Amino acid sequence: MTICFTTPAILLRRVDFGDNDLILTFFSLTRGKISLIAKSARKSQKRFCGALDLFSALDLVVSIGHGRLPVLQEATLKHPFCQIRSDFKKTTYASYFAEIINNWMEPAVVQPRTFDLLYQVLDRLDRSDLPDELLSIVFQMTLMIISGFSPNFSTCCLCHTEMDCLNGCRIGINFAKGGLICSSCNTAVSPMVYLSSGTIKHLQWMGCGDWNKIARARFSARSIQESLGFLEAFVPYHLGKEPKSLSVLRQLRSAQGT
Ligand SMILES: [Zn+2]
Repeated sequence: MTICFTTPAILLRRVDFGDNDLILTFFSLTRGKISLIAKSARKSQKRFCGALDLFSALDLVVSIGHGRLPVLQEATLKHPFCQIRSDFKKTTYASYFAEIINNWMEPAVVQPRTFDLLYQVLDRLDRSDLPDELLSIVFQMTLMIISGFSPNFSTCCLCHTEMDCLNGCRIGINFAKGGLICSSCNTAVSPMVYLSSGTIKHLQWMGCGDWNKIARARFSARSIQESLGFLEAFVPYHLGKEPKSLSVLRQLRSAQGT
């Protein structure tokens, strides 16, 4: 017996399969992360009307039969996000977001807030609505909050001293403890990174989930750099591996001197 379902989805990954087919991994709204086979998609562009570009948002019709993988029957393009794919830096950021989602999400776990986050961030990246770096901070910080891995920025993880009472301009963060370590507790647990209190407030602001507030915020280049450095270590730490696209992003930044 064959069962069919439809779902909005974003294409995270595509791999050639044989001479004719593609194996596609989507993050879908109603089925979570799913891998599908798109038969004849390589042989004929017409089969799916050229809709199967990376990061595209689509409506899918999928059938589940006796095969190893569900089969993509129809794909209707809802948003191609063309500007992302025509810009190498935007493509690298979108690849980083897609790689994080692909590694972070378990198959078939439905997470509509994360789906909406990925869609919103890709849409704004495509429209150049906010700087690419800010979108990366919002994406990573919000994903950590949704997933329950939000760093504890309010009190020391060991003695629970309030952040506002901490001395010094650099505040230590320990990843294993999940947040702030005050200078008195430094001897017990070594911080893995140090952040300024301004950057900590910046990170909290970026994870607020309110796009109007995020768009109004103004932060220094140093604070953005510190936030990216922190999140690009904190997220891979919880992911258990470093996304391949992160090294491309770093090479790109060093080539641009940013
Ligand atoms: Zn402490």
